[in-house]
Amino acid sequence: MERKRVYTFGNGAAEGRSDMRNLLGGKGANLAEMNLIGVPVPPGFTITTEVCTEYNQLGKDYVTGVLKKEVEHAVAGIERLTGTRFGDKENPCLLSVRSGARVSMPGMMDTVLNLGLNDEAVQGIAVKSGNERFAWDSYRRFVQMYGDVVLGLKPESKDDIDPFEEIMDTMKEVKGIELDTDLTVDDLKTLVKQFKQAVKERTGNDFPSDPWDQLWGAVCAVFDSWMNDRAILYRKMNNFPEEWGTAVNVQAMVYGNMGNTSATGVAFTRDAATGEDLFNGEYLINAQGEDVVAGVRTPQQITLEGSHRWAKMQGISEEERASKYPSLEEIMPECAAQLIETQQKLEDYFKDMQDLEFTIQDGKLWLLQTRSGKRTGAAMVKIATDMLHQGYIDEKTALKRCDPEKLDELLHPVFDKKALADAHAITHGLPASPGAATGQVVFHADEAEEWAKEGKKVILCRIETSPEDLRGMATAQGILTARGGMTSHAAVVARGMGKCCVSAANNLSIDYKSRKMTINGKALLEGDWISLDGTTGNVYEGQIQTVDAELGPDFTELMEIADKYTRMEVRTNADTPHDAVAARNFGATGIGLCRTEHMFFEEDKIVPMREMILAKDEEGRRRALEKLLPLQKKDFKGIFTAMDGYPVTVRLLDPPLHEFVPHDEKGQMEMARVMNISYEDIHERVESLLEANPMLGLRGCRLGNLYPEITEMQTRAIMEAALELKKEGITAIPEIMVPLTGIVYEFKNQKEIIERTIQQVFSENSDSIDYKIGTMIEIPRAALTAHKIAKEADFFSFGTNDLTQMTFGYSRDDVAKFLPLYLDKGILKQDPFAVLDQNGVGQLVSMAVQAGRSVRPSLKCGICGEHGGDPSSVKFCHRVGLNYVSCSPFRVPIARLAAAQAAIEG
Ligand code: PEP
Ligand code: MG
Repeated sequence: MERKRVYTFGNGAAEGRSDMRNLLGGKGANLAEMNLIGVPVPPGFTITTEVCTEYNQLGKDYVTGVLKKEVEHAVAGIERLTGTRFGDKENPCLLSVRSGARVSMPGMMDTVLNLGLNDEAVQGIAVKSGNERFAWDSYRRFVQMYGDVVLGLKPESKDDIDPFEEIMDTMKEVKGIELDTDLTVDDLKTLVKQFKQAVKERTGNDFPSDPWDQLWGAVCAVFDSWMNDRAILYRKMNNFPEEWGTAVNVQAMVYGNMGNTSATGVAFTRDAATGEDLFNGEYLINAQGEDVVAGVRTPQQITLEGSHRWAKMQGISEEERASKYPSLEEIMPECAAQLIETQQKLEDYFKDMQDLEFTIQDGKLWLLQTRSGKRTGAAMVKIATDMLHQGYIDEKTALKRCDPEKLDELLHPVFDKKALADAHAITHGLPASPGAATGQVVFHADEAEEWAKEGKKVILCRIETSPEDLRGMATAQGILTARGGMTSHAAVVARGMGKCCVSAANNLSIDYKSRKMTINGKALLEGDWISLDGTTGNVYEGQIQTVDAELGPDFTELMEIADKYTRMEVRTNADTPHDAVAARNFGATGIGLCRTEHMFFEEDKIVPMREMILAKDEEGRRRALEKLLPLQKKDFKGIFTAMDGYPVTVRLLDPPLHEFVPHDEKGQMEMARVMNISYEDIHERVESLLEANPMLGLRGCRLGNLYPEITEMQTRAIMEAALELKKEGITAIPEIMVPLTGIVYEFKNQKEIIERTIQQVFSENSDSIDYKIGTMIEIPRAALTAHKIAKEADFFSFGTNDLTQMTFGYSRDDVAKFLPLYLDKGILKQDPFAVLDQNGVGQLVSMAVQAGRSVRPSLKCGICGEHGGDPSSVKFCHRVGLNYVSCSPFRVPIARLAAAQAAIEG
């Protein structure tokens, strides 16, 4: 059977339905459904999204050929229902032609209105409507829109001038008028003539007067618009595949510009910003949709209540409001009542907040579109929980309705919207950690600390950050770096702290010496104000006011429902009691990664730590480690106390040692004094620690394998802390984790040392507690030999930051140099450091879980790379059977919701 390419609707009947959105596009599917439920919709038809794909593959001639019969038949249907004839002189049928993909892509594709008009039909419309001005204004609009959209006269860039606008502006100037509505019939007639002339000049062809030529031109233009630059970019940004295609919706025109009993508008069944269950929207009297978009006239509110609220916000008196900006309820009470009834019907039917477009033609209401309305994160949560309470949806649907990523909006400070509207971005970088921050520029971490102590707000600006900058980062409002990727030090640490960070900002150069940075040629000095948006990656000059996030009872309820359905646990990556408490408040049920290295940068620990690293021999190292032991123990007591009763995975020392030693003369002199050896000796030892590629150098468990005393000290600190807390009634559940295992021997060696030390501590204290010893799986070889490692390990935690780095062979620290270009060129679809590469890295994870459990069925598996907080990666983790995901504290709610959705989706 020949494939059906056209679906008709009108007058309460339709060939399509709302669940056919993949084929008919969102708009087409809902236009069909509105007919079926008795909502007044102008009759029309939808050409399917499949035809768009045929169009792109087989071309214009093929598609217009195969469509001809079905389209002619469908147009005849519109003629029958409207009592008009397409191409008739006296009683012409006029059409609108609009795009409509399966998801809404606002403003990305093209629309043509008033199609079917020509020099004869315009006379017919003038007579029929009894309104010559309306007829000629429609004709003027049509030639302009068709010329722009179909004949390609629309300027490519915003700076170029639309030839039609230019002609109109000249006419208005000559006549000394401001508004289009002041143009007379004769003016409009002249404009149509001049517009057509412009078309002839630009294209070499006459403006098409045959309605069928017009229709095919418009249909093809809509298909073409699927491949325009805007649409391609939008799809790329939202990860929509090209194969989806757009449908084309052709409908009988209805007019909101037929005089003062006509209007057009947009409405929401609930408040899209707050989620409040309040019907709201705007309309313009005597106008077409494009007038609303153009924003020249002030739209008025539909409801009286909305109108009162609006006037109050604008500071407009009741008298002025009622006379100049009355609500639709006041001036067209019957239509308003019908609209209110219809919006309720649509919301009841679709069981979600709807975004509607309507037109009132001479007192009769028509719906032109309904779709699920876009909303803020706060509105998303409120609408889902309200609709659950109101019985519209069940718990699972409420969870599915919420986009985990959008929860992020609720968790961080944001810029005050009004203040942001006046701000001007000077550059942008990677949105490394969300939220908004405003502060004074400082370039050094210690200065960030000092300035913050004085009560100043600072933004720490660095070429890139290192663990040494930690305290400065903690006191800054936000962090800006010139280099680095989504898993660079700055990005990972900032996310952990819930602190705004923009990394790898474009055209940013920093000169530490002169305390100056240059952004796109603009110089900024220490103390200058800048603002960062870590959600968009934008960097602004000057101060922009921020507002704090607030979590209400709806959020708490949604999270509780999520936990009811979820199978995986959600833990957190935290290495301070402060972060641990924040994560618990967000619902974390354990720490999946406590990076101990961060602890060594605190003032009291850095000197003995450096002493340990710079020591000549084991004896010297042990001396320094003895000093570190009580300090580490104190750190662990803090963390275990914050996580009382929950497991804490403590990772042994991981980073390359040179990260801890001083690289400046002052610091090296200080160490020479402390260690009582010469500056030259210290300098030489620091130099000897430098590696060409430290990420692949002496780090991870290679340290513990070569310097077992470090492992011993850390194990002792962990276990002594846990036993001391036991006496205080606090339950510590330590899980000791070995980093960067590549060979089973490396793990076995560490495990033996850990076990031996634990038994020593137990016997010294005549006490014991439960514990586990496991490993990170973050080197491909470890994943490939997981069956061997699992024989020894109680648990696996996938370090997907390193696993991605090593599987792709992309340096985590240098990836920003080429990754944006790879994304731009489409070589990579997503940043693999942010979204788990399921086909490659994911395969290693999946294989390792299976291989590990084949020898140890009880093997506990989790993930602690940054992917643990990314919704699509969390869902993957559920599917491959991980027991938990671990992510930075501010991602915990996002992971909880994603984990629940994964469980529901099965
Ligand atoms: C990882 O590699 O995924 C990980 C969590 O460890 P880090 O980021 O500290 O190397
Ligand atoms: Mg790692």
